[in-house]
Amino acid sequence: MWDCHCHLAQLEDLPGRLESARRQGIHGWLSCASDRDSWARQQEIARMPGVLLAQGLHPWYADQGCDGLESLLPEAVAIGECGLDFHRARDPEAREGQKQVLRTQLQLARHSGKPVVLHCVRAHQALLQEMEAFPEVRCMIHGFLGSTADAQAWLRRGDYLSLGPHALSRSDLMRHLPLDRVLIETDAPSRGASLLDLRPVLEAWQQIQPLQPELFQTNLFRFLGRERDQAWGRQFKP
Ligand SMILES: [Zn+2]
Repeated sequence: MWDCHCHLAQLEDLPGRLESARRQGIHGWLSCASDRDSWARQQEIARMPGVLLAQGLHPWYADQGCDGLESLLPEAVAIGECGLDFHRARDPEAREGQKQVLRTQLQLARHSGKPVVLHCVRAHQALLQEMEAFPEVRCMIHGFLGSTADAQAWLRRGDYLSLGPHALSRSDLMRHLPLDRVLIETDAPSRGASLLDLRPVLEAWQQIQPLQPELFQTNLFRFLGRERDQAWGRQFKP
């Protein structure tokens, strides 16, 4: 089972935590960058079994700028976590700052052909509008908690929606989202989540639909454009 969005660089005693997660049937993690300080730690983590990297700059840290990000992309399978957070950025100037840093990262996605992990808080319309200039860039909206209308807009673009522990009560999403475009995540350690919070998300979904955990690996590999690369996929055996 894959944790399709977490922040391993922020966890203490990482080998021990990954081992406990493995005992719960979790064998892969897409570890996403947050601020610039996380970038070097992410590079170290990339050598651990079952770990894939997304490198990028979270909108909360937009004022740090993302110079130098491009040189980290060869070791990353995706760009992120990036996006827009209009709950954090209340005034037009701060929102514009987030947009500029997002556009730089979307250009890197276009040139590298890598997909993007998006953070979106109170900004679905603005973010969809930004994406209009990048129709070819594939996205995962992580920690999705939007309306079904928001979901439809992302699905029309061909994007993926990732549900975490905060979506446990969203049986509407679990019932209606197309099963070839969904992912699960913990976002650990954000909002106090642990790497062990993945199984409850799977189990809540399984109470609604008879889905298998392998579904999320298949979807993640397709999101990453690696679904046909069997030699690559073999290193992530459960
Ligand atoms: Zn996150």
